Amino acid sequence: ADNDDENEDEDEDEHATDTTNTSETDATSPPISVDEPTGGLTAGLDPVLQEANGTWIAWGDGDADFDVTNQRDCVRVPPGDEDYTLRRIDLSEEAVDAYYRGFSNRVLWPLCHGFAELVDERPNDLEWYRTVNERFAAAVADHASDESVVWLQDYHFALAPRMIRQAIPDSASIAQFWHIPWPAPATFDYCPAGEEVLEGLLGNDLLGFHVERYANAFLDCVRRFLPDATVDHEQGTIQYEGQITRVVATPMGVDAESYDQHAHDADADQLLSLFDRYDIPRNSAIGLGVDRLDYTKGIPERLTALERFFAENPSWHGDFTFIQKATPSRTEIPAYARHGDLVRSEVDRINRRFGTDDWQPIVYTEDYVEHDDLCALYRHADVMIVSPLIDGMNLVAQEYVAASVDADGTLLLSDRAGAHERLSSHALTIDPTDVQGFATAIDDALSMPPQERTTRMKALRSNVFDGDIADWMATQFDLLRRVHEGADSSNSA
Ligand code: ADP
Repeated sequence: ADNDDENEDEDEDEHATDTTNTSETDATSPPISVDEPTGGLTAGLDPVLQEANGTWIAWGDGDADFDVTNQRDCVRVPPGDEDYTLRRIDLSEEAVDAYYRGFSNRVLWPLCHGFAELVDERPNDLEWYRTVNERFAAAVADHASDESVVWLQDYHFALAPRMIRQAIPDSASIAQFWHIPWPAPATFDYCPAGEEVLEGLLGNDLLGFHVERYANAFLDCVRRFLPDATVDHEQGTIQYEGQITRVVATPMGVDAESYDQHAHDADADQLLSLFDRYDIPRNSAIGLGVDRLDYTKGIPERLTALERFFAENPSWHGDFTFIQKATPSRTEIPAYARHGDLVRSEVDRINRRFGTDDWQPIVYTEDYVEHDDLCALYRHADVMIVSPLIDGMNLVAQEYVAASVDADGTLLLSDRAGAHERLSSHALTIDPTDVQGFATAIDDALSMPPQERTTRMKALRSNVFDGDIADWMATQFDLLRRVHEGADSSNSA
């Protein structure tokens, strides 16, 4: 599958539904090639689909090595060991623009992240969002049987659950994980077709968020905008039109073992070659940021804090270098293009202010970083800065911890990331908009005694390893099973 979350360019989001117990076998399969995703949700789903012999339904982005235009849109994968069916939904450029770059990422993304002022509703986007959700729902109906469990991923499918509910047997179960935040009612009020979005999601038997705050905000929105719904905050249940939806908070983890292993393999030579590639003085301490170039990630605020730090701490000039790896994302959307320009110009300005012939305070790169290099950077970064203005979870923070095999780095973490709920006790918490507090935290991290760094990092590592992606998957499927068996009438998660 090529919709992994570590793509080198844009469209990193996951767009997939899966059903188990497919009744369909494949059409003739042309030869296909497979890139194994490293870590992340897609890597976690793959073995589950293999075990369930299910069907993975995903939007094809045109790179797939099989012909989706000729009804040959189902293949059995992986090649040579065909365990499950991959069904690609071929979307036209017009559909992608309106559904993905339109309603999904100009409306739902900014709205759910609390950027109501960036909501940009274009005339046909909602209609295309409905159409694409219908196409996925129809595809699910093709594959689903009485025993099926349907699991949808993320905000690209807000309307599909209700459509699927109407199209498949009653005894099948529908669940969804919403990987981004959910806003308070005052913000959700700006959502075009907001009631339809809520009704769509209430087609699910189970609806998951990363943290309680978002789950509670969803319940608040249903209570406010669907007065006929019965909302039980304590149980986390909603009854609407004869259907019960269970709302849970289950924070997602990363493939900690894999990051640990790759980081172990990243030797000093690999790091030195990265220093050479980016012209970093060999004795420099390293700060690191790894983000999609997205206005939610707080990159300008981070640069402002770094500028304050360098202004106040000339002794670190030449001895501390901040590497910002930024991955361009959704660049056709004006808010993203403007944001990219702002980040690049701020980097240039700060480097002109403090840089010398031998040293630049900020090394900024939009190049794709190979997984091994990413792990080497994680392992050797003295300070990792994760400073989103808001983030559903933030996997980068957890990846850094998993890759910190020497336990000698410090994590600076925004209190607005979902990841903060599991890492707050031993990270240095920052408010990304408090310039002085942020700059002081960078100084604190760099001057922290080694013993304290190690103690903090070891505690963080045990949190990340205890709640890894396998654990999350197991929780999801346990909840799904209980919902499916109808045995899940009370608490948990
Ligand atoms: P989001 O899903 O909003 O982009 P996350 O932090 O949750 O934010 O996930 C980002 C994922 O993308 C992480 O798994 C991270 O390792 C990966 N990633 C980001 N930039 C790069 C890059 N340049 N090279 C490789 N992987 C990257």
